[in-house]
Amino acid sequence: MILDKEKLRDNLDRVIWDIEEARLKRSEHLIVQLIVVSKYTEVENIKTLYELGQRNFGENQVQQLVSRVEELDELPLAWHMIGTLQKNKINKLIDANPVLLQSLDSLDLAIELNKRLEAKGKTMSALLQINSAKEETKSGVMPEDAIDTYNKIQESCPNIELKGVMSIGAHTEDKDIVKSSFETTYSIYEKLQTKGATICSMGMSEDFKLAIECGSNMVRVGSALFKDE
Ligand SMILES: *Cc1c(COP(=O)(O)O)cnc(C)c1O
Repeated sequence: MILDKEKLRDNLDRVIWDIEEARLKRSEHLIVQLIVVSKYTEVENIKTLYELGQRNFGENQVQQLVSRVEELDELPLAWHMIGTLQKNKINKLIDANPVLLQSLDSLDLAIELNKRLEAKGKTMSALLQINSAKEETKSGVMPEDAIDTYNKIQESCPNIELKGVMSIGAHTEDKDIVKSSFETTYSIYEKLQTKGATICSMGMSEDFKLAIECGSNMVRVGSALFKDE
């Protein structure tokens, strides 16, 4: 569904104000970056949000990321890969030059990615995805293994620049459980700050306010921006 500029402006304003409110509850000094998740929307809406000042967009499939990078080539957009990365798509992703791979979810994948990056003489910035709620349906390293895996990737993958962590909040209506999953991720992020981590990416349309109150400094928002009601 293609939305008109006024509708997108209203949605965006709402999200920005909600971010602002949550940010101030946490700390005046917290700066939160908004990543527009465009996976379910049309290219036209991406263009409009660009005109409204947005620069960072996220996709969860390499195929769609690549086609959008090509189609929107003339705009200075920064693309984030936020979905599970299959090994056979690594080369395609590298060629698309994403600004950040947010879904690096195992040492195994990191080693394979590093190998391909090395062969192409390139580097890639990435976040370690943590399965903080320990849900079987989600990818990511278990919280108790996160620090160790982060260290190992830093030691053995020189072509990957780790910038922090990413997590999806617990899949439940129970706010306390969601909050606790964000707190788990944040405490890992805190420990990794000495290792140079600067990004704690958590929060989506349903829970970004709570995520920010728990210390998130990067939110990934899709449906709240593209709703038509
Ligand atoms: C789809 C997706 C989002 C955005 O979800 P909304 O609920 O539409 O805001 C954020 N992060 C990841 C990893 C996603 O796959």
